[in-house]
Amino acid sequence: MGDTNLDVSRLTIREAGDLLASGACSAVDLTDALLRRIQDVDSNIHAYVSLDADFALQQARAADEARAQGKSGPLLGIPIGVKDLLNVAGQPCTCSSHILEGYTAPYDATVIARLREAGAVFVGRTNMDEFAMGSSTENSAYMVTRNPVDLERVPGGSSGGSAAALAAGEAIATLGTDTGGSIRQPAAFCGCVGLKPTYGRVSRYGLTAFASSLDQIGPMTHTVEDAAILLQAMAGLDTMDSTTLDVPVPDYRAALQHDLKGMRLGLPKEYFVDGMDDAVRASILQAVDTCRALGAEIVDVSLPHTEYSIAVYYIIATAEASANLARFDGVRYGRRVSPGNDPVEMYGATREAGFGAEVKRRIILGTYVLSSGYYDAYYLRAQKVRRLILQDFENAFATCDALLAPATPTPAFRVGENTGDPLKMYLSDVFTATANLAGICAMSVPSFSTSEGLPVGLQILGPALGETQILRVGHAFEQRKKAVA
Ligand code: GLN
Repeated sequence: MGDTNLDVSRLTIREAGDLLASGACSAVDLTDALLRRIQDVDSNIHAYVSLDADFALQQARAADEARAQGKSGPLLGIPIGVKDLLNVAGQPCTCSSHILEGYTAPYDATVIARLREAGAVFVGRTNMDEFAMGSSTENSAYMVTRNPVDLERVPGGSSGGSAAALAAGEAIATLGTDTGGSIRQPAAFCGCVGLKPTYGRVSRYGLTAFASSLDQIGPMTHTVEDAAILLQAMAGLDTMDSTTLDVPVPDYRAALQHDLKGMRLGLPKEYFVDGMDDAVRASILQAVDTCRALGAEIVDVSLPHTEYSIAVYYIIATAEASANLARFDGVRYGRRVSPGNDPVEMYGATREAGFGAEVKRRIILGTYVLSSGYYDAYYLRAQKVRRLILQDFENAFATCDALLAPATPTPAFRVGENTGDPLKMYLSDVFTATANLAGICAMSVPSFSTSEGLPVGLQILGPALGETQILRVGHAFEQRKKAVA
C-alpha cells in the first residue's frame, strides 16, 4: 500500500482524513509526501524555521498503529505545522529570536497536548516575526518568508510562515497566534482561512506570551470546515490557564450551513474609510453582496472608537510585552552572553545580543508607558478606551449576529516596503487589533482577489463565544464563492 505520488499541495484536513480512513494512504505516506513537498518548494518560500522528519514520521507511525487498533478521528495522522512560539516537548522553540537559540521545550503547550491526543503529526516549526511582533515576518531573526502568491511580497505576520506554508502547499493546516491580527492578516495576504478565537476559548498555556490579555492561539487552514475541525480539538477549559472559559465547546462543524437566511450582518462604517485600497474595498463589497444573496440581512453599524484602536493596542501590547519579556535574561532560557562575572552585565549583554531592533523598541515603549508619571496618561487611559471599544462591539452585537469588514486595508505589500517606517507597519493592523482589544472572535476568509491576482481577506467578526456564527457565515460565503468561480 501507499501512494508515493500523493499530491498534498491543496489537500484539506477533511480530504486527508477521508484518504486515511478509507486506507487509500497511511499517515506515514501523507507525512512523507508533505516532507518531500516542503523539500521541493521551501527554499523559495522559507516558511519553516526547522523541520524534524524523524520526529514527524515517528508520530505518523504511531497514528497508523492507533488506527490499526481501532482508533479514529478527524485529526488522526494529519500533519500540522506549528508556529515557532508554541512549546512541543523535545522540539526547539525559538520564537524566531536569537535569544532562544538552543532552547528545547520541556513540555507540551495545552493545544499541542490536545492535538497530540487527537493523533495529529507535528511536522515542523513555522517562521514568524520575532516574539510575534510584526506584520510581515521581516522581523524574524532567521529569514524573511516570501508570499507564495508573489515572491516579491510579504506573507504578512506575525504568523507569516504558517500562512505561507499553506499557500505554497507545504502544510495541510497550521497553528498561528493572534495578538493584534497575526492570524487574520497573514491569512488575508496569502489567501487562506485564519480564525482568532474569543479570548479564553483556547488555552494559552505553553504559548510564549507576547501580550497576555490579547494573545490567542487559532487555526490556519485551507477551508472554513478545517478551521472548525481544528478549533474543536483545541478549545475548552484548561486548569493550566485561569483565563480559559468554563463554557461547553459547541459542535463547530454542525454549525456550518449553506445559506445565511435569518442572519443579520453589520457593516461597520469605520472599516470602509477613505484611503483604503480600492481593490480591497471592491472585493469586500462584492463579498457583502454575496452574503446578501445567501439570505443575510445587511445593516449599517458604527464602531465610533475604532480610530483609537492602534494607539490603544500599541500601548497595552507593549506594556504587557515589556513585562513578559523580562524573563529572557540569560539565566533561565536559551542563550547567555557573559562577558565577565557580573550578573547584571550578563543580563544586559544577553538581551543586547539576543533581541532584535523591533523587540527592543517595544520593550522600551512598554517600559515607558508603565513608568511612574506616564502610567496614568498612557496605560490607564488606554485601558479606559479599550473598554469603550468593547462597548462599541457590544452595541453592534445587540442587533447583529456578526459583522463584515476587510481584514486589512491593503493586499500584501512588497518586501522592504514598510520596514523603514514602523508607524506605517503598525497602521496595517487597524482592522484587526480591535477584536483582540474587545476579546471577541474574528476570522479572515479569502474574498475575491484583486485584478493583479492578490488575495483579499473578508473579516467576519462575532461576539464573545460567537465562533459558530462566524464559521457559519464563512462557510456559506466560501461555498458560494467556489460555486461561482
Ligand atoms: N502586527 C501586530 C504587532 O506587530 C500584531 C502582532 C500579533 O498579532 N502577534 O503587534
